[in-house]
Amino acid sequence: MNVADRASLLGFSDIVKIRNRVFAMRESGHRVLQLEGGEPFIGTPDFVKEAMKAALDANQTRYAPSSGIQPLLDALVEKLARKNSVAVTRDDLIVTSGGAHGLFCAFQATVNPGDEVLFLSPYWTPIKDQVSYSGGVAVRVPWDEVRGESPADLRQTLESRCTPRARIIYVNTPGNPTGDVLTRDQLTEIAEFAKAHDLTVIADEAYEDLIYEGEHVSMASLPGMAERTLTVFTFSKSFSMTGLRIGYVVAPPAFMPSLRKLVLNSVNGVSTPTQFAALAAVTHDPHFFDAIREQYRQRRDLLLQGFRDAGFSCVTPPGAFYTFPDVRERLGGDSWKAMETLLERTSIASVPGSVFGPEGEGHLRMSFSTSMETLEAAVRALATL
Ligand code: PLP
Repeated sequence: MNVADRASLLGFSDIVKIRNRVFAMRESGHRVLQLEGGEPFIGTPDFVKEAMKAALDANQTRYAPSSGIQPLLDALVEKLARKNSVAVTRDDLIVTSGGAHGLFCAFQATVNPGDEVLFLSPYWTPIKDQVSYSGGVAVRVPWDEVRGESPADLRQTLESRCTPRARIIYVNTPGNPTGDVLTRDQLTEIAEFAKAHDLTVIADEAYEDLIYEGEHVSMASLPGMAERTLTVFTFSKSFSMTGLRIGYVVAPPAFMPSLRKLVLNSVNGVSTPTQFAALAAVTHDPHFFDAIREQYRQRRDLLLQGFRDAGFSCVTPPGAFYTFPDVRERLGGDSWKAMETLLERTSIASVPGSVFGPEGEGHLRMSFSTSMETLEAAVRALATL
């Protein structure tokens, strides 16, 4: 047997360990208040499902062009101009099997062995693996050194971590796990930093539609950034399409041949009916999100109040669907132990902050993307902690 060494560069999500623990508890008859997940609570919209069914009925079940079907690419060009202020042509776009695959291709297309990749920490867990797998060296920039600070301080913190080997910066806004949204000024500062050091940016905008305060600014829309930014989008969070696996990457022309080869050699194009479902999603009335956003906001405010009343210190997350309370005072500094304690005492399942990097230690990530009933039960349980 010849097992390749390569996969040893990758981790296996710790969140799976928590999920298995939750399953075991449920099997033994416990009710678990599941706040550990990362999925929209709303069902996949009917207009998306209908489009997928219609595609199947029309026998759209054969290979599609490996970079994406033309009507979807055209609709994405229009969406990017309208919503993201990013002017592209079809040739600057590629459809991927979700954001995770888009990120995988983006890292493989940009990072050479030994290149340093900067990113704010805590970070979405797979990012560190993506950096390692592409041969890069992860350089974590502690978010708490810049959170709430001026853009000039953000710049100083970035400069202090930057060496001549820095080549890439990964920027995730709205962010997982913190729910933070980078402001236009902060993004402009990161953009100036990237230009000054000739860095390529991988922008992860998976939660672009889930913003409760402030605005979503696409890195590629800032002056001089489209030519150095690969932006990864997904349909998963905006349209509750996590299981359909579709997203897209917008990139400067120099990266497109690599991205096309990576998609061709990994998935050989995204499922054709799924692409028709995505077409229906992206051409749907954009006001569709307004009511949904309100439902998320209501859930966020309820859960935050519950935590604050129970004595936790929480920053109000302006985006995504996670809260990331500091649990050190109430549950101790070890976030795996804190997760266990909270689970035992309140039946609330959460994710230890250290899963998102050492800078996440002392926190727990909880999703408010669930039913009001579950959140109300969580708030009642917190009151007894
Ligand atoms: N980026 C971030 C920050 C995420 O949290 C996720 C999913 O949780 C993704 C990208 C990828 O999502 P998907 O692969 O479902 O499109």
